Amino acid sequence: MHIYCLKTTNVNLSRYSCSIKPYKAASNAEYQQTWYQKNREKHAEYNKQCATKSEYQESHRKLSQKHYQSKKDEKFPPAPPSAKLCQNIVLDFCADTSPDMFEEAGCAVCGKLTPTCEMEELPEVENIGLLKVAGVTRKARSKSSDPVKELRGPILASGCSRVCSICIESLDKNKIPTLALANGLWIGEIPDELQDLTYAEQC
Ligand SMILES: [Zn+2]
Repeated sequence: MHIYCLKTTNVNLSRYSCSIKPYKAASNAEYQQTWYQKNREKHAEYNKQCATKSEYQESHRKLSQKHYQSKKDEKFPPAPPSAKLCQNIVLDFCADTSPDMFEEAGCAVCGKLTPTCEMEELPEVENIGLLKVAGVTRKARSKSSDPVKELRGPILASGCSRVCSICIESLDKNKIPTLALANGLWIGEIPDELQDLTYAEQC
């Protein structure tokens, strides 16, 4: 079936000229064919995915079969674990739940709370001398007439005897750690009244 559409052209040049072109309305079958051709690539991709899926199912089936064959001759109930295995299980449990695995301590260099298993003892750390920085600390004065003096030695958090891995890594590279107290972050002993403040109080 042909539908004719009227199209006026060149109105300024020839006022009365017009052209008529046939417009072919596509049938349902033709429309479907065009649609199918357009979506052929999508179909191919979908089919590929289905093939991959079936390959996976096949390999899974083979694995299950292999597992079943390997367990086929085993008796039920299985024998109790050997003394050696029991010993290993208990030893591993003790190691994983020992206080060292979850206890935390403050880092002597930066003051950050860190699990003790990830820290090293202070005497074992190299380049501690880098933490001797002038103009960061100040000795407590009991009278205003007392002279202003700095603390001697490397700037470390008092009461801390271990160093965290981040600080060790930085000191090994001969650099002062970014968050080290010696990097201008030293505030000295905190009075009891100012310890354990809430966030709002800290602000
Ligand atoms: Zn640290």
